[in-house]
This record gives sequence, structure tokens and C-alpha cells, in this order.
Amino acid sequence: MKGGGIMGEIHDLRCEKCGYGIKTWLGIGMMYSPEMIFEGTDPSLVELVDDEQISTSALELVKTGAEINDHYGHALYACTNDFYLFNKFYFKIDEMEPEYPCPYCDNTLKRITFAKGRAGVTRLQFIDDEKFWHCPKCGNDSMNEVSFSNWD
Ligand SMILES: [Zn+2]
Ligand SMILES: [Zn+2]
Repeated sequence: MKGGGIMGEIHDLRCEKCGYGIKTWLGIGMMYSPEMIFEGTDPSLVELVDDEQISTSALELVKTGAEINDHYGHALYACTNDFYLFNKFYFKIDEMEPEYPCPYCDNTLKRITFAKGRAGVTRLQFIDDEKFWHCPKCGNDSMNEVSFSNWD
């Protein structure tokens, strides 16, 4: 997953019943080389993460020579408490992963992924404990999924 020609996808996820959802970029774009994100005088991690505490400690780790995991990029996150969806920048440096606070409660957001469903319909599942996500507005757990062309 190193820069140069790798593209992300735009996903539009909507609850089948009430329409709650998120339109989100997932993956990385052409300008997302590790050098641009984690190194130099103006690393783009600061903007991508948009949380000074997280980006500062991450960049300090990088300066000590910590290993940057190749699997970084825009990812789907949700709160395990109220289930609101967010697009956040995922990365891993040595054992450090960003812990984004939920804006609505005291929880930390967790990454979620696509579970199998019918064509165009998906369920979402938390990566850590495989619990299924459900809609914060109506409790339904199936979403219509439209995946758009790549971006870069
Ligand atoms: Zn719903
Ligand atoms: Zn929350």
C-alpha cells in the first residue's frame, strides 16, 4: 500500500429504513506517500488526523525511528455506544493506533468493516470484536451501499 497509483473509493452508505448514513472516502490517494504523510517539515498527518494530541505523539514516534505500518488510509469508524459513523484517518506506528474520541459520548471510536450481505446491501461490523453495527436512528442493521469511482 505504498503511494504512486493507489486510489481510494467513495462509498455512500445509507440505512435501508431511515436513510441515515455517511458518504465517505476510503483508502488512500496518489499524494499519500509515507514521506508526505509522516515526514518533512509539513507532514500531512496533522491535517488528516485533525487532532493535535494524536498527530504530535505519532510524529514524535516517527522521529525516533518507529516503524510505519503500510496499512494507513481513510477508514470507517463508529462509536460502540451510540453507533454514529465517522471517517477518520487510520495508521499504525509500532503499536500505536489513533484513538479518536466520539464527539457525542466518552467512548473511543472503533474501526468497522463491511460484512457480507445481498448485492448492494451490506452490514457493518466492528473489526475488533466482530459485533454488528446498527443504525443510531432506527436500530436497523442493513445498509444500501453505493460505491463510486476511484478518487486520487
Ligand atoms: Zn436507520
Ligand atoms: Zn459515542
